[in-house]
Amino acid sequence: MKAAVYQGDQRIVVEDFPIPEPGPNEILVRIQYSAICGTDVHAFLYDIAPPGSVLGHEFSGVVEKIGSSVETWNQGDRVIGGGGTPPPGLEAPLRRQDQYNYRTEGFTSTRKRGYSEFTVLNDWEPLKIPENVTDLQACLTEPCAVVVRAVRLSNLRLGDTAVVIGAGPIGLLCMQAVKAAGARKVIVVEPVEARRNVALHLGADAVIDPTIEDVNEAAILLTDGSGPHVVFECAAAKSTLETAFRIVRKKGNVMLVALAWDEVPLVPVDWAGKELSFNTTFGSEHYDWITALNLIESGKVSLDPLMSDADIIGLEGIQKAFEGLCEPSTQVQVIIDLNEPSTV
Ligand SMILES: [Zn+2]
Repeated sequence: MKAAVYQGDQRIVVEDFPIPEPGPNEILVRIQYSAICGTDVHAFLYDIAPPGSVLGHEFSGVVEKIGSSVETWNQGDRVIGGGGTPPPGLEAPLRRQDQYNYRTEGFTSTRKRGYSEFTVLNDWEPLKIPENVTDLQACLTEPCAVVVRAVRLSNLRLGDTAVVIGAGPIGLLCMQAVKAAGARKVIVVEPVEARRNVALHLGADAVIDPTIEDVNEAAILLTDGSGPHVVFECAAAKSTLETAFRIVRKKGNVMLVALAWDEVPLVPVDWAGKELSFNTTFGSEHYDWITALNLIESGKVSLDPLMSDADIIGLEGIQKAFEGLCEPSTQVQVIIDLNEPSTV
């Protein structure tokens, strides 16, 4: 089988491996689609993924083989590569350690994951794909679960106004989850025109171009002069967290969704008087995945504009795709199609 192996120094090479055998409580999954996540791009950009690792955690596939003790899956079942409830003691590190730092603890496993033709999963790990959700859609369940968690932890209430900063894949999913949660108005701040247009197409009530508009003024004007109740920071650009604190209304909520890897300059005296609340979120848990699948299934969150054909690539295009994603780009989502025969 082909798998894209991180070599260190921002290099990924597609290599050949024997197809692994699942252990007694494991299943072998033939991967169909694997989406490239921003955290993997960070792992590449900042060279924190261990050399030899095969990244990718947003994927869909078909059960190819089951271990001798597996009772919950059958060959041919369509699955998403995550979302199951871990047994006690096997929770994700951030849930079980006193303090968690993604920068130093993000990649503890070197198991071959989504950027591969096959992967082995514990039988509790995957979720079944609902019948009316395609394999292509299903590979984006994980980022959708991330925004579901962000909205659930954000204190957003029915009838609130919200601003989403950044219209990358996470921002575009977030604005739809915010709408589904009952926000009265969702405004998206995004410098790239193509992304602003996708946001409008997906139901944003207004968009702000920060390169030509005063974001503070525009956001307050669009929210009855008071500023939004909740601001979702989905950009991780240098100035966007400060922007979130400045535009949120008095006693409003700021939710940090994107992870900035650089120092973020803040001038608290400019906004501390608003007595605002600041929340963070990271990853997702079983219930967030189930909610995400429901939103996708019911059409309340549309993944289609995130999946235009141009952004679907073969495994051999992975190095170029990662390089492209490190630059500011107009691509909204890159998905690796593992159905296509690999040419490397
Ligand atoms: Zn992800």
